[in-house]
Amino acid sequence: MRVLIVGAGSAGLTCAWRLAREPSTEVVLIDAGVDPGPDVPSFLLRDMVLPPPFYWDYAEFDRGYFLPRGKLFGGTSAVNATAAVRGHPWCYDAWGSPSWRWERCLPSFRAIEADMQFGAEPYHGHAGPVPITRCELGGFDHALGDAYVRRGLARIADHNAPGHLGFGPFPTNRIGDDRASTLRTLLPELRGRPNVTLRPQTEAVRVVMAHGEARGVLVRTAQGDEQLLEADRVVLSGGTFGSPEMLFASGIGPADGLRTAGLPVHVDAPEVGANLVDHPYVQMGIEVSDPAKPAAPPGKGALLTFELDGPGHLQAHAFAYRTRAVDPSADPCSAAVTCALLTPESRGRLELGTGRARVRLNHLSSDVDARRMAEIVARVADVVADLASEGALRLPADPWWHADDLPAACRREVVTYHHPVGTCRMGSDTASVVDEALRVRGVERLMVADASVMPSLPRGQTNLGAMMIGHRAAEFLLEAPPP
Ligand SMILES: Cc1cc2nc3c(=O)[nH]c(=O)nc-3n(C[C@H](O)[C@H](O)[C@H](O)COP(=O)(O)OP(=O)(O)OC[C@H]3O[C@@H](n4cnc5c(N)ncnc54)[C@H](O)[C@@H]3O)c2cc1C
Repeated sequence: MRVLIVGAGSAGLTCAWRLAREPSTEVVLIDAGVDPGPDVPSFLLRDMVLPPPFYWDYAEFDRGYFLPRGKLFGGTSAVNATAAVRGHPWCYDAWGSPSWRWERCLPSFRAIEADMQFGAEPYHGHAGPVPITRCELGGFDHALGDAYVRRGLARIADHNAPGHLGFGPFPTNRIGDDRASTLRTLLPELRGRPNVTLRPQTEAVRVVMAHGEARGVLVRTAQGDEQLLEADRVVLSGGTFGSPEMLFASGIGPADGLRTAGLPVHVDAPEVGANLVDHPYVQMGIEVSDPAKPAAPPGKGALLTFELDGPGHLQAHAFAYRTRAVDPSADPCSAAVTCALLTPESRGRLELGTGRARVRLNHLSSDVDARRMAEIVARVADVVADLASEGALRLPADPWWHADDLPAACRREVVTYHHPVGTCRMGSDTASVVDEALRVRGVERLMVADASVMPSLPRGQTNLGAMMIGHRAAEFLLEAPPP
């Protein structure tokens, strides 16, 4: 079986890594971005902000801000903050498919990771390629933690223990200071394998179909040539923005929108690009008083997870990070205390436009979400105020979170927590874009495997979830190879 995977990011590289272990499977893995080679320069593994060629040029359409998505082998796992929080069993059970219940996803989560502290637990792996560890907390994290505990919140050691809530170190996929991205961990295992072809700087233009089947992908090389790459199976792993864009370009999407954009209509699939959901996120800018007790860089400090009143595990994240990690010109004491709503109701969409698709995140468009975000901010702001009165931090002159109308202030401040999913929704219903085995409805031999298929967000970050999906896609392919 020859499998062509488009996109060497979190999911695509994991799918390739699993398939490559079966010698009878031939894997061709392409990406529009570069392969930095076996000796990855350290800035690529460590810096939080990389030079522009390593990103796609997506922006939030209504608000105009840049939406980073990695454009290199490793994809967004190679530009992210390495928080390795999977969410809870009920997040996956809520996807509504017996094939994706927690107990069916857990073996793939375990296969991917080597948890350095909790690998012996039944809900963790100990022998996978991605090391998960927890860092020493920074001085400011200790102050925050003490304040949370005084308010009755628990200290926890492992955010990935099912059901755990409270304050504790971020699980993080790191090797020392390096991101343990798929670029760093899985790609080296693919190099030199006789059944693997790696094709960097090869951009998929569209899926080529005949008689309702995917036969391959038309690609554009770095030299600008167009080539047809044929395969028995095509797996799109271009991410939450890239995969629906590839489906649009291949004539799979809402018929009216495709016609208006001058594209052919092969499959009228109204949900391609719909159901976009992301964690809304706000930041409270503060200054840590003691330079010897700074906030930690993103993903290295501590995380608070707590529940709001209401049905169905409504949850929030809060953590602090050192601003200098993302803005080298910032004062060393400058920090942000951040809050995210993990269970948003608001939905956005990815729309066909001229050129790049329009990404409309629609954060906090639902009044319920705006009220919940305000409740989260108010609770964290109380702790920030306590620490300010104790002298542990300094507030800005007119903090936005002191606004009388806090939901409205949250709507002004909200940005992305960088976890968009849902634009190629998986489901058992015929309206879903892919079925429970990730096959695109209406086209044989074509799958989508990446964060875009998540029907809803886990209450955690999305990198490990995307990797789990890539791993499961490979297993589906191996269970049902072509005749
Ligand atoms: C700044 C930032 C911080 C984050 N921090 C965290 C974190 O701390 N923890 C966490 O769990 N998650 C984090 N995330 C989110 C997480 O990294 C992503 O959810 C995850 O990497 C998505 O994986 P994916 O496989 O769906 O897509 P990606 O990893 O984005 O992979 C898509 C790949 O497809 C390629 N591609 C796209 N279109 C084409 C095309 N037409 N032709 C060829 N190749 C194509 C891209 O170049 C890319 O390599 C963060 C994201 C960002 C942006």
